[in-house]
Amino acid sequence: MNNHVTVLEIDGKALEHNLNYFKQKLNPKTKILAVVKAFGYGSDGVKVAQFLEDKVAYFSVAYTHEGVAIREAGVKTPILVLHPQIQNLQQIVDFRLEPNLYNFKIFDAFLRLADETPLMNYPVHIKFNTGLNRVGFWHTDVPKILTELKQTTHIKVQSLFSHLAASEDLEEKDFTVGQINNFAYIVKQFYTHLGYEPMLHILNTSGVVNFTKAQFDMVRIGLGLYGFGNDEKETEALKNTHNLKSIISQINIIQPGETVGYNRAYTAKRPTRSATIPIGHADGLSRKLGNKKGYVVINNQKAPIIGNVCMDMIMVNVTKIDCKEGDAVIIFNSQNMINHIANVSETIVYETLTAISQRVKKILI
Ligand SMILES: *Cc1c(COP(=O)(O)O)cnc(C)c1O
Repeated sequence: MNNHVTVLEIDGKALEHNLNYFKQKLNPKTKILAVVKAFGYGSDGVKVAQFLEDKVAYFSVAYTHEGVAIREAGVKTPILVLHPQIQNLQQIVDFRLEPNLYNFKIFDAFLRLADETPLMNYPVHIKFNTGLNRVGFWHTDVPKILTELKQTTHIKVQSLFSHLAASEDLEEKDFTVGQINNFAYIVKQFYTHLGYEPMLHILNTSGVVNFTKAQFDMVRIGLGLYGFGNDEKETEALKNTHNLKSIISQINIIQPGETVGYNRAYTAKRPTRSATIPIGHADGLSRKLGNKKGYVVINNQKAPIIGNVCMDMIMVNVTKIDCKEGDAVIIFNSQNMINHIANVSETIVYETLTAISQRVKKILI
């Protein structure tokens, strides 16, 4: 059992608050798909899925094994696997996961498996590339897809979807509206020729914020669930879900001229108390946070990180902080602190959250 003292607390109440915040932005009929890929954005995808099981219509993960873990934990909610490979298709069926079929190679392979097994009306999803140019069919593929679908009863299209390239950026509004219009044009052909009407979805979190009208039947919310909207105002209305905590392992008194940490990167100018905390770059804290660029909070006061971030530890300056070995340390517990870490690390919040490594213990409260 992992009884590590560096713990990421996932705040269930905050998850629920954020889910409800997006619900009230949407039409009552619009379904919500909770994105729990990458360990629930660096938390624990299984725990988040168990917690949200009865509160959302769908989950999605990027890779098959992420979905398998959620099924193995007993979650029954439909799970869309966004990026399956041919090697995963049997496992997808074994665990009743729902594949995104994004090109003919994977589409044909899944159809073959469905024919041979045989499966009946197995739920699949078809993704269209409308401008992100990552994965997805092109609009020119529509006639061939329709022909193949009309010849089988082994699979049934649960949804048609696409993904926006710049939904957070209103300067790219025309491009995004173009993507939405392309998607609408593609799905119209399906609705005309398929004989049934799959669900439609294109919006991620910032899509919901900026292009609410394009909510179709479902929206896919990732980052928003974990407390980050498109801008400061949205983020303020959301609650932080990721609280990263640790404790002080040791306190050292450093004399003037002595140094702290690897490469002797910090030199004390005056007598200094430094506290060593058991979290390092192997836990997801960027080395860019070293040398006073980042800080932690101890007994309500900011303690700057001194010297280099080590693999397993950081040292922080607690000269002016009343604290002792064993005291609690907050690495972050607010969206502001996470934003600060992302900025100093020269990255985006998505990466700061998903960087939290598997070594950190995860608990849902
Ligand atoms: C990751 C992902 C999402 C979630 O995006 P957020 O910006 O975190 O809401 C939605 N759809 C697809 C296809 C994704 O890959």
